[in-house]
Amino acid sequence: MKKVVKFGGSSLASAEQFKKVGDIIRADESRCYVVPSAPGKRFSSDTKVTDMLYTCYAAAEQGDDFSDKLEAIKARYQEIIDGLELNLSLDDEFETIRKNFEARSGKDYAASRGEYLNGIIMAEYLGYEFIDAADVIRFNGDGSFNAELTNTIMSTRLSNVERAVIPGFFGAKSDGSIKTFSRGGSDITGSIVAKAVLANLYENWTDVSGVLVADPRIVKNPEVISTITYKELRELSYMGASVLHEDAIFPVRKAGIPINIRNTNAPEDPGTMIVERTCQIPPYIITGIAGKKDFVAVNIEKDMMNSEIGFGRKVLAAFEKYGISFEHMPSGVDTMTVVIHQAEFVEKEQKVLTEITHLVQPDSLELESDLALIAVVGRGMRESRGTAGRIFAALAHAKVNVKMVDQGSTEMNIIIGVKNRDFETAIRAIYDIFVESQL
Ligand code: ASP
Repeated sequence: MKKVVKFGGSSLASAEQFKKVGDIIRADESRCYVVPSAPGKRFSSDTKVTDMLYTCYAAAEQGDDFSDKLEAIKARYQEIIDGLELNLSLDDEFETIRKNFEARSGKDYAASRGEYLNGIIMAEYLGYEFIDAADVIRFNGDGSFNAELTNTIMSTRLSNVERAVIPGFFGAKSDGSIKTFSRGGSDITGSIVAKAVLANLYENWTDVSGVLVADPRIVKNPEVISTITYKELRELSYMGASVLHEDAIFPVRKAGIPINIRNTNAPEDPGTMIVERTCQIPPYIITGIAGKKDFVAVNIEKDMMNSEIGFGRKVLAAFEKYGISFEHMPSGVDTMTVVIHQAEFVEKEQKVLTEITHLVQPDSLELESDLALIAVVGRGMRESRGTAGRIFAALAHAKVNVKMVDQGSTEMNIIIGVKNRDFETAIRAIYDIFVESQL
């Protein structure tokens, strides 16, 4: 049994957090490969080390004196080293970083030092080998990630290393220059390592006890989802549920490795299992609810639209021409609605509307702005009757007017459009009917 364990920034923000992490790793000897993030926030107004590094490097790039900023970063690490009573000095590392900043070694190099240094401390603390991600994670010259080459290099390098720490978030191009993933990218490193060593499980340790049924800023103390499929998670993440970096799913999913989201501050909680398939019956009909505000619906009406072949394609071509992707497209016999992100549409709206008018000469063309979309997701919905009915009854009861509905043929999700102002009320009403009232 081999597990890859990734710890997020808040799990490694201080010596006290490091100790919890150490206990977790030592409690299970199959936790062989450790992927740390950079130290995150110790309290809500604190600054993540990654952000401190970006700011510090920006000063260096401007030619400003950045020594105080670099000292403040060093102090964050020193506090951890002292708290863990380690006999470790990062003086030489910081001297190298200072020189490289002066030599303008790049923003990615700068940001990556957060994980790199935390990895060195973690390896020392655990007595594990430290493997620099720059040696085992490869990016192409154009900055894209080279999955195949990485897998070959990483699996070879780890084949006879029983226990190691590999810092998250970055790798290098073949010329040695450092490249990071996008923000939150240590999740991706964990997944890549799990695939390379063919781990049995990828544990992703964070500061919540798993994926929640609904956003805790909207629903008070939402339930934790015990098992979720990759497909369900993708639907929820797309609609704003932030759990894992999106790109973290692909490597492990391909390799058939489940992910377990766990809480460093409550290690006894089982967390959420993210799996390809399961016959576990979900405790509720729905698995989760997520949503986003600020969409616009463009309503197009034209008599006999249904018989005009190519109508839909022409309408969508108008959006495509201006680089706007559409989210949903509910339609009637003589009406068609295209739902898009308001922010993306606003600047180009007149151009798009003119284009639609030229292409299809609609009888009417109307806009409805300030819409929110809510996704109600659940593999259990396929097996049960009346789910949509219950959603609408709950919304009607909460006096929320439903503006749009879209259900995919897989019956795994129902998308509901409501006014922005009704967003929170709608989510609470749906949560109450499917979860709260079942407890
Ligand atoms: N430290 C990086 C960030 O703040 C990467 C990560 O934590 O996953 O985005």
